[in-house]
Amino acid sequence: MSTPTTPRPRAHIGDIPAYVPGKPPTPRPGLTAYKLSSNENPYPPLPGVVEAATRAVEVMNRYPDMGSRALYEALAERLGVPVEDLAAATGSVALIYQLLQAFCEPGDEVVYAWRSFEAYPIAVTAAGARSVQVPLRADGRHDLDAMAEAITERTRVVMVCTPNNPTGPAVSQAELDAFLARVPEHVVAVVDEAYLEFVRMDDAVDGLATYRAHPNVVLFRTFSKAYGLAGFRVGYAVAQPEVAGALRAVSLPFGVSAVAQAAAVASLEAGEELLARVDALVVERDRVEAGLRAAGWEVPDAQGNFVWFALGERTAEFAAACDEAGIVVRPFAGEGCRVSIGEVEANDRLLEVARSFLGG
Ligand SMILES: *Cc1c(COP(=O)(O)O)cnc(C)c1O
Repeated sequence: MSTPTTPRPRAHIGDIPAYVPGKPPTPRPGLTAYKLSSNENPYPPLPGVVEAATRAVEVMNRYPDMGSRALYEALAERLGVPVEDLAAATGSVALIYQLLQAFCEPGDEVVYAWRSFEAYPIAVTAAGARSVQVPLRADGRHDLDAMAEAITERTRVVMVCTPNNPTGPAVSQAELDAFLARVPEHVVAVVDEAYLEFVRMDDAVDGLATYRAHPNVVLFRTFSKAYGLAGFRVGYAVAQPEVAGALRAVSLPFGVSAVAQAAAVASLEAGEELLARVDALVVERDRVEAGLRAAGWEVPDAQGNFVWFALGERTAEFAAACDEAGIVVRPFAGEGCRVSIGEVEANDRLLEVARSFLGG
């Protein structure tokens, strides 16, 4: 009797690394638990956003507007770009997949910094392409010179994550310009700006000016972080129409739900109010960063809504100490912990744990 066999997926499917999601907090009696493990926004959606999404729920027997017309128009107006230069998707994670599907043949190379966003190696492997990971510098910054040197004949895409998840620093416009000058025109240069709204630095990247100056640049942006809509799954790309059109061509039909479209449009309308929340989070981030430095921690420049602790062998120990204090963080085994900026009380607890960790 022959052993039954099951259909085999393509060879590289087995090589796809698992995505490790941020854990929920361990419930502790008498202690409010806080989730600081996924860079989420601690503020719930604004009332107007909830109302718009609720109205959309009433027509959920219908397919969404496949062209996401209202969303495209609202984005085009807000950004001052033509609708043809936009591609909306179910989160900017989906855009990474779409970009690789549209631009990479099997075995093509994708250059990015490492450690960086953990979805990159997953999406690259899923596309049958090859990751070329360029180590970050010791201060958690991109080594853009080394990344430029890593570009070969097989390179189709380079990705710059700024601010870098999980270490925090952002690249400057001068650094980005010098890098882009070394990227061949036929190579797509992604600038992943998931945390754009939190950046407060001199010579910050002006993504829109950069995409206008470089036909190979694609900006990835998201409603998940500053806009606080992570659960709705909406992101978008800005690029020249040929590139944006390729992203739209490979998108999942009807991907962005009507509820998500309505929430995103309402959030753009509430822009001022939402950006005031971002300002409050930035104040908290700077307070946490300063508190950690004062306590003797060497943290990299934090330009997103999170801070990075380079803990090496003590990573699991630090994560456990945080968990004990009712805050759950995101450990990267043997490397460090990323901790999102959350509610004031959660941030206070982080500072306490960090202070006593150094003492103990
Ligand atoms: C969170 C994040 C995203 C966005 O994810 P969504 O799919 O839009 O929720 C993209 N890039 C980086 C670096 C991120 O940290």
